[in-house]
Amino acid sequence: MSENRAESLDDHRIRTLRGPKNQVDPFRPYHYLVEQERSLAGIVEDVLSIFLTNRECRYSCLMCDLWKNTTDTPVPPGAIPTQIQWALEKLPGAKQVKLYNSANFFDPGAVPPEDYPRIASLVDQFETVIVENHPLLTGQRCLQFARLLRPRLQVAMGLETINPEVLRRLNKKMVPGDFSRSVSFLKKEGIQTRAFILLRPPFQSEEEGIHWAKQSLKFAFECGTDCCTLIPTRSGNGIMELLHQEGLFTPPLLSSLEEVQEFGLGLHAGSVFVDTWDLQLFSQCDTCFDGRLQRLVKMNLEQRILPPVSCSCCS
Ligand SMILES: [Zn+2]
Repeated sequence: MSENRAESLDDHRIRTLRGPKNQVDPFRPYHYLVEQERSLAGIVEDVLSIFLTNRECRYSCLMCDLWKNTTDTPVPPGAIPTQIQWALEKLPGAKQVKLYNSANFFDPGAVPPEDYPRIASLVDQFETVIVENHPLLTGQRCLQFARLLRPRLQVAMGLETINPEVLRRLNKKMVPGDFSRSVSFLKKEGIQTRAFILLRPPFQSEEEGIHWAKQSLKFAFECGTDCCTLIPTRSGNGIMELLHQEGLFTPPLLSSLEEVQEFGLGLHAGSVFVDTWDLQLFSQCDTCFDGRLQRLVKMNLEQRILPPVSCSCCS
């Protein structure tokens, strides 16, 4: 039953199970923050993240909850630069800025190309500008924007998993080859890339989740990706809760995240970051959670494997 049901998941079904969107203003980012990240040059630096209010992504990926802070219709030309300017006036100086738009930066229906010059001039003082984009939207617009930028461009793309069947079921409408072609195209143009990799997406056991996250990290680096961000899969968008009830999705264990991060760092192929947001969700033990979290954060910043946390309660 579950198999067939999972196979029939489509855009319509994913969308019908959603809750309401949040109220957003097309002229204000819905969130912004400063975090620390180790640069590719090996220096721990402040990175600004501006979460731009934008039109909902054209893809309806199974695991995505970014639609919650999006508009139904395109934002007018000028809205995105206005949001960036507003956030930069509130944030401290930094060398890197992430302009995340809950969709694809190079989708002309998301960020109007006529806004590129003003965006480029607003981020002129940074060294690196990071945007997110779907591999299938890699193309001339990336080059058009990169040429306007003084800072280096980095494009973050969801690879998610290289398990072909699971990737198909995630409804992302791409295959791993689309990702590798994108990385090659961008790399040839001097544009850096970052891969988002899911730990234990739906339809995987804990062991399969670990195995495929490791294989996906390896694949991303073999493609030439500069850095990977490992994301433990969370529910919270409607369909994921249903899959959980049906036994088709279980969030990964914190210990699996530790194992895959260690594996990734051991490859010495590029930076490996773990998404440490709300990790308590994946913890099985209150006694050692803080220690484990601090270790993961430190491994993100130092990019080396640190001694494991031992715990009398759960070891
Ligand atoms: Zn413990």
